[in-house]
Amino acid sequence: MRLFVITLFFFVYLISTAQNTYLHCGKLIDVEQKKVQTEMTVVISENMIKTVVKGYQNPSSNADHVIDLKNKTVLPGLIDMHVHLESEQSASTYLNRFTMNEADIAFETAKNAKTTLLAGFTTVRDLGGTGVNTALRNAIDKGVAEGPRIYSCGKAIGTTGGHADPSNGIKKDLAENPGPLQGVINGPDEARAAVRQRYKNGADVIKITATGGVLSVAKNGQNPQFTLEEIKAICETAKDYDMHVAAHAHGDEGMQRAILGGVKTIEHGTLMSEKTMGLMIEYDVFYVPTITAGKEVSDKAKIKGFYPEIIVPKAAEIGPKIQGTFQTAYKKGVPIAFGTDAGVFPHGLNGKEFAYMTEAGMPPIETIICATSTNAKLLKNDKIGVLKAGKLADIIAVEDDPTKNIKTMEKVVFVMKDGKVYKNE
Ligand SMILES: [Zn+2]
Repeated sequence: MRLFVITLFFFVYLISTAQNTYLHCGKLIDVEQKKVQTEMTVVISENMIKTVVKGYQNPSSNADHVIDLKNKTVLPGLIDMHVHLESEQSASTYLNRFTMNEADIAFETAKNAKTTLLAGFTTVRDLGGTGVNTALRNAIDKGVAEGPRIYSCGKAIGTTGGHADPSNGIKKDLAENPGPLQGVINGPDEARAAVRQRYKNGADVIKITATGGVLSVAKNGQNPQFTLEEIKAICETAKDYDMHVAAHAHGDEGMQRAILGGVKTIEHGTLMSEKTMGLMIEYDVFYVPTITAGKEVSDKAKIKGFYPEIIVPKAAEIGPKIQGTFQTAYKKGVPIAFGTDAGVFPHGLNGKEFAYMTEAGMPPIETIICATSTNAKLLKNDKIGVLKAGKLADIIAVEDDPTKNIKTMEKVVFVMKDGKVYKNE
């Protein structure tokens, strides 16, 4: 009995001295009220937000500590719905697949993940790599590596010769004949097999390349590349495993098949017609614009030798159109999520997307809502995307008030993920 009482007192002592962190926030973006609050305190206990209160509250215990963000604006950790952590586009990208082993890719991936986290992105959806992306997710979850929490698709699914066929442009004796295991399918049965294989590999989401793409070594950047039946087979199977499907799409026909087939997000959406915008609204499909990537590929296409010749006209044609499409889609009321396609441009510059969305007519606060609470809902994660009691302590800060100066989103000065501070400048 005596031992029990001593043990009990010991536990009460431990609980009462558990360290809390008090963030004094000059401004705080409230994404639910859609407004900027001033002079707020966020109290964090371990990895959770304990409370968010008005005024600067001071701790009562010596074990607690205060972080002064009185001159900053505090927001929920950002979420990017479209990144490729395994790569960063350069003039040597097309040679890398012949020279880099998985271990080489892994080190690059870890570096890119850290850069992304320090740019304020505490969660990302990785839409295509080799499977190293999924391994990194596990390493980060275990605390072995530092980076955002990752929702990984592993390797994207395409059709033979399609945007996600890894053997495009490779000479015959080096190109194996990829199948569902490698993410290349033809017909509904192979489509189902590829989804189940990805589930087995530990994927969280499924990515398909519904149309041609800019950066693959292939002629067409916009043609439909799946039948409606194939897309339906993929989406129905993914649903069985509680995974949603993201569809890369530039051309309109492929986009329509993807929407009718049951995907949850359309990536890029470059040549989206008004009719397709109507379908997006009707089917509650979200548009992930990736304007930053569009701008980047059209710029890089001007540098001779940066891309293989077959890619240059596609990059020059498709890249500049995305921002205009976003402008029309937003005005029409298409559901919008936030995603950048980082990897097509250097990791860590994901924040550029905010200014591009604002330029195209979306108010700054709405861009932030897209990148936080909207994306969290799409990922079905009710612990992130909002700053309030009971949520994970994924918290960032920027110098200025982004509702007045959206470019401030490009320089994040404070990053906390899961209650741990990774950056405080
Ligand atoms: Zn992409």
